[in-house]
Amino acid sequence: MSKFLVDKYQTIEPYTPGEQPKKGSLIKLNTNESPFPPSPKAVEAIAKAAGDLNLYSDPECKKLVDAIAEYYGVSAKNVIATNGSDESLAFCFQAFCDENTPAAYPDITYGFYKVFAKLYSIDSKVMPLKADFSVDPADYMGINATVFLANPNAPTGMALALEDIEKIALSNPENVVIIDEAYVDFGGKSAIELTRKLSNLLVVQTFSKSRSLAGGRIGFVIGCEELIEDLRKIKYSFNPYNVGALPQAAAEASIRDTEYFEACRKSVIDAREYTVEQLLKMGLAVLPSCANFIFVSPTRISGQEYFAALREKGILVRHFSAPRVCDFVRVTIGSREQMDAYLKATREILEERR
Ligand SMILES: *Cc1c(COP(=O)(O)O)cnc(C)c1O
Repeated sequence: MSKFLVDKYQTIEPYTPGEQPKKGSLIKLNTNESPFPPSPKAVEAIAKAAGDLNLYSDPECKKLVDAIAEYYGVSAKNVIATNGSDESLAFCFQAFCDENTPAAYPDITYGFYKVFAKLYSIDSKVMPLKADFSVDPADYMGINATVFLANPNAPTGMALALEDIEKIALSNPENVVIIDEAYVDFGGKSAIELTRKLSNLLVVQTFSKSRSLAGGRIGFVIGCEELIEDLRKIKYSFNPYNVGALPQAAAEASIRDTEYFEACRKSVIDAREYTVEQLLKMGLAVLPSCANFIFVSPTRISGQEYFAALREKGILVRHFSAPRVCDFVRVTIGSREQMDAYLKATREILEERR
């Protein structure tokens, strides 16, 4: 750190991304990426768009926004596209939180909420999950804060019912409720429908997980026109060209390729159900997941030991050291072959320690 960094950032603890090892050395189940390549149509669209890179990208992301609006049956005015959904979330923190309006989110959730709160000098109301790791909707009723809920939650994979989301939004008419649906395509129910009638509800989604475009950096927000207008105000005050031309082209082609999307997500869901069944048979504990990852406790050894032993065997998963979750590891659902390798390694690890 230099002496020039301003005081308020000296104590910030940035988000720690999962390791990105060199290709081939490890089976990578640590950052919830898709095991499948992007839609071939997305790859084709990138090649086509590349010839125009001398020009700035479309700041309105019009073709992409139209495609998203069409897919979800909303108007283009209800959609904004961003550079990954992390940027969507950052815009929400900037637009809807300040010194009088704190952010509320669970103790165990996506690590970035805490980082953004600190970055923008926003207070946090951190609400502990219940003992079974579910969100207690009662915690958020009339909370007087901007609510951030990942649904399904990360790293638990557990989902909150839409009725509860509706109740939370209705009980906070003076605050915005932001539902982060990064994993919704793997078994959650989207709150997009609710944004039609609730003018304080926003849904954030990403192309990073279910659409195999993590490296493309595309996210979007859906909500009532006024809220989207607020987010546009932040975007145009920060970086009008926030989404590159290649990612715009890739994402548009991807959302129009329904067949490929459905095949990929079905494959991930099938591999998840298979993996959970095998783990339960072996006596491990697994939280009920609606996502493309599972939260697994080996029960007989610590989460840290399990993580390290899997790594020894060439399988990279994610371990979090926070006290409530340190007995677990988060395992991304990869291809069936990758999951068989993970299950084999797990079987060996438990045998070796019997
Ligand atoms: C992965 C993830 C994101 C961020 O995704 P982007 O790649 O920035 O679109 C947001 N929220 C949650 C809960 C995530 O797991």
